Amino acid sequence: MDALIGHGEILRELAAIAATPEPPHALLFAGPESTGRVPLARRLAMYLNCEALHPAPPAGGSLFGDPLPPAPAATEPCGTCRACRLILEDAHPDVLTVRPGDTLCRPRDGESHPAHPDSADIRICQVRGITELVARFPFEARTRLIIIDPADRLAEYAAPALLKTLEEPPGHTVFCLVTASPERLLPTIRSRCRRIEVRPVPRGEIEAGLRARGIDAALAAEAAAAARGRPGRALAFVADPDLMAARGRILERCAALAASGVAARFDYTRTLAERWRSDQAAVRFELDCWEAFWEERLRRAASGPREAIAGPLEALRAIADLREHLLANVQARPAFDLMLLRFPRATLEGSTEEVLPAHA
Ligand SMILES: [Zn+2]
Ligand SMILES: [Zn+2]
Repeated sequence: MDALIGHGEILRELAAIAATPEPPHALLFAGPESTGRVPLARRLAMYLNCEALHPAPPAGGSLFGDPLPPAPAATEPCGTCRACRLILEDAHPDVLTVRPGDTLCRPRDGESHPAHPDSADIRICQVRGITELVARFPFEARTRLIIIDPADRLAEYAAPALLKTLEEPPGHTVFCLVTASPERLLPTIRSRCRRIEVRPVPRGEIEAGLRARGIDAALAAEAAAAARGRPGRALAFVADPDLMAARGRILERCAALAASGVAARFDYTRTLAERWRSDQAAVRFELDCWEAFWEERLRRAASGPREAIAGPLEALRAIADLREHLLANVQARPAFDLMLLRFPRATLEGSTEEVLPAHA
C-alpha cells in the first residue's frame, strides 16, 4: 500500500524539482515522525524514475544524430512500471534507506568490526558505504536516491564525512535527509539541502486517504482522529486494531496518573525507564498518547478561565523537552521523572473511573 496521504503542495514541488534538468543534489524533509517524510522521498524517486514520465529513447541513432527521447505522456508516476513497483515495495536496488544499524557498513580497508544491527546512530562506516556506492553508476535507475533517516542521528564523525559527499555531489544521485529536529544537523549540511517542511496532515485528508484505500468509514474516522495529523500512525492503526486498543488503555492510564500524586508517578517513571531500555518505540508511542491527552485537556480548558490553560501547556512543553533530552541520550529515568513532575495534577473528570455503576 502506498503510504503517502496528503501533502498536495509538496507533491507539486517535488514534481517540479524532478522535471528540472539538474535537480538539487540534496533535500531535507523536516517534520514530525510519521507525517510522510519518507513516503514523500519515495515519491520523489518515482518522479525521477517512472518509465511513463521518462520514456526510453528509441533504440539506435539516425542520420540526424541521437534520437530525442519521446515526450512523456504522463505528469504523475504511473505506479505500475518496474521502477514504480520496486520503489513502492521498498525493493529498488537504487532507492536505499540508511538508518541506524548496519546498512551499507563498510569497515576501513584492511580492518573489520562486528556487525552492529542495533546501533543507535548512523556510523561513519555507513557513510563510507554510501560514498563508495555513489561513486558508481546506479544499477538500473536514471537517478539513485539515498534516504538518510533520521539525519540527526549521524554520529559525530559520520556527519562531516557525509558533508564531504554533499559538497562534491556525484551525478545521478539525490540525497534525501529526513529529520524531526533540523536544528540538530550541522549548519553546513542544512545549507547544502533544499528544505521541504513536512507539516501534519489535516484530519479530513487522512480520513479520505484511508477510505480511498478501502478502509470502512467508522474505522477511518476513528484512526484519523487518533493519528493527530500523522498519516503513518493512521495507517498503523488500521493495520493493527490492537494498537488502537492499546492507545485507549494508555489514555486511561494517563488520566489516572494525571490525577495521582508523586509516589504513583515515580512508580510509573521507573517502569517507563525500564521499558525505554528494551523498547524505545513503545515508549515513544506512549509519549504520543500523553501528548494527545494534554492536547485534549488544553482544548477543553480553552473555553474556561485563562489560567486553566497554563497546566496543560506546561505539560506539553515538558513532553517536548523530554523528547529533546532523549535525543541527546541523557539518562532516561531522571528525564522521565522531571517530565512527570512538571505535569499538573488533573482531575479524573471525564474518565471511566467517575462513572457510577448503574445499579449502585
Ligand atoms: Zn511508473
Ligand atoms: Zn560498521
